[in-house]
Amino acid sequence: MACDFFKLANPGVMRLAPYKAGKPVEELRRELHIEDIIKLASNENPLGASPKAIAAAQGTLARSSRYPDSHSYYLKKALAEFHQVDTDNITIGNGSDQILSLIAQAFIHPGHEVIFSEYAFATFAILTQAHHGVPVVVAAKEWGNDLTAISAAITPKTRIIFMANPNNPTATLFCESMLHQFMQHVPEDVLVVIDEAYYEYALHPAYPNTIQLQKKYPNIITTRSFSKAYGLAGLRVGYCVAHPDCNNCLQRIRLPFSVSRPAEAAAVAALHDNEHITRTVCDNQTGHEQLQHAFHHLGLSSLPSITNFITVDMGPDAQAIYEALLKHGIIVRPLVPYAMPNHLRITVGTEAQNQRLIKALEIILAKEPTSHE
Ligand SMILES: *Cc1c(COP(=O)(O)O)cnc(C)c1O
Repeated sequence: MACDFFKLANPGVMRLAPYKAGKPVEELRRELHIEDIIKLASNENPLGASPKAIAAAQGTLARSSRYPDSHSYYLKKALAEFHQVDTDNITIGNGSDQILSLIAQAFIHPGHEVIFSEYAFATFAILTQAHHGVPVVVAAKEWGNDLTAISAAITPKTRIIFMANPNNPTATLFCESMLHQFMQHVPEDVLVVIDEAYYEYALHPAYPNTIQLQKKYPNIITTRSFSKAYGLAGLRVGYCVAHPDCNNCLQRIRLPFSVSRPAEAAAVAALHDNEHITRTVCDNQTGHEQLQHAFHHLGLSSLPSITNFITVDMGPDAQAIYEALLKHGIIVRPLVPYAMPNHLRITVGTEAQNQRLIKALEIILAKEPTSHE
């Protein structure tokens, strides 16, 4: 299959040459003057970063006066080995958000249609608007990407399809066979961006290998992040694996030095610290069961999830429960911006953090029994 990325790119992009060289905890503390705050709102790793990653980042600080390598040579090389691809299959960004942004900037021309699902990651809509694309929002199926409906929404004006797998904020998953089927209906010049920020947690036998699928479908772009299981959200590193011509386009608009030296060093070390990732994923499974069990006891239903967060139906009191949790020093994520006002998204924490959340919910729900009788 041929996918002519150069023809797809913004004319402006092709006129450029690639640059040659490369509710925070603190806020709640200010507001409520409580010291002991836990944040289960942004799907960060409750174990923190790998100690090896932190040491690697610290080891770079003495060189802070020097710009980092704009092309993140060592990280690209490590990722190429990790994924068994070439270095030109990879673009590194300041978080995978930057990668998504570069994709939008490079490929959306004004008036192009960009398809994503209802309850999709908010960034997709923002980027579409920012680049004068026309958002085409497809109704969700059981809270997730409805691949059949999405393929039916493709028109000659469609340029990009954005799908997160697992999806945030609803934790839904689509499997390899569904994606295969779907790709048969996608024209080769429609880019299919699959955001795999929660990849490490998605331990499901039918989870698609999208990097492998790129050999058959070069219009698939896979994005990954160091912010979630790798625990480096504060350092901002993400990347995509994609066709070299796609990366060539992205690199024309990517501003130099967007990935700092500590971030690059930490990411390389984190990638090689299997033990930390294994422990992260294993602890997450235990914590997940702990929370699911408690939610069940509290009479709360939640969406199925194999990620590091659980989206819970709190009924019409969701906002009040969110605010009550804040007073207990616990930050979770209301989903009002996602048109899911009755749901709260809760990140799986450490065992002690989960226990504190459960205790607080028991107190809060006993006081506000209206919707949970
Ligand atoms: C957290 C998240 C990201 C952002 O990742 P960064 O690498 O921190 O920019 C991207 N996509 C989804 C679906 C996420 O939940």
